[in-house]
Amino acid sequence: MKGSDNMRILGLGAHPDDLEINCGGTLARFHQLGHQVVMAFACSGDKGHFRIPPAELAEIRKQEAQEAAAVIQAKSIWLGYQDGEIVGESLQNRDIFIDLIRQVQPDLILTHSPVDYHADHTAVSRLVVDAAFMSTVPHLKTRYPALNDVPQIYFIEPYGGMAFQPDVYVISNPHIL
Ligand SMILES: [Zn+2]
Repeated sequence: MKGSDNMRILGLGAHPDDLEINCGGTLARFHQLGHQVVMAFACSGDKGHFRIPPAELAEIRKQEAQEAAAVIQAKSIWLGYQDGEIVGESLQNRDIFIDLIRQVQPDLILTHSPVDYHADHTAVSRLVVDAAFMSTVPHLKTRYPALNDVPQIYFIEPYGGMAFQPDVYVISNPHIL
């Protein structure tokens, strides 16, 4: 990372609500400290309800996510997958993630832990790790130019703390302690 001044922070979640629930306070803290935050959503969240039809639900969740991002003046980016449709590593998927990282040029990425309960979460985590390094390879051509530095990656705590041993804690309000 460049240091504490004007960093670009990329939160990259599988679904709308993952970033807000699991690292929303941290993203807000980065914004509060003057850093630029981008929130990226891999899937539309279209299958996250028992009754609301997918197309209708995707619209609702996009609206909610954009309103949440606006609170911390974060730009939101949508990768266009449907829930449950990021299946492992493919060159096409990896290029989409490389391009996102090259577009945002983050100093730090917050994303899912490699061990998580949802297949979309673990797929995103794996793709981010592989794409972050590949984003610096100049002869690997995508729409955006290669980065000079590999972004740092922090894994966010999975729901229920599943197999997760944290070594960094973020205190959103230091006056609480
Ligand atoms: Zn999720």
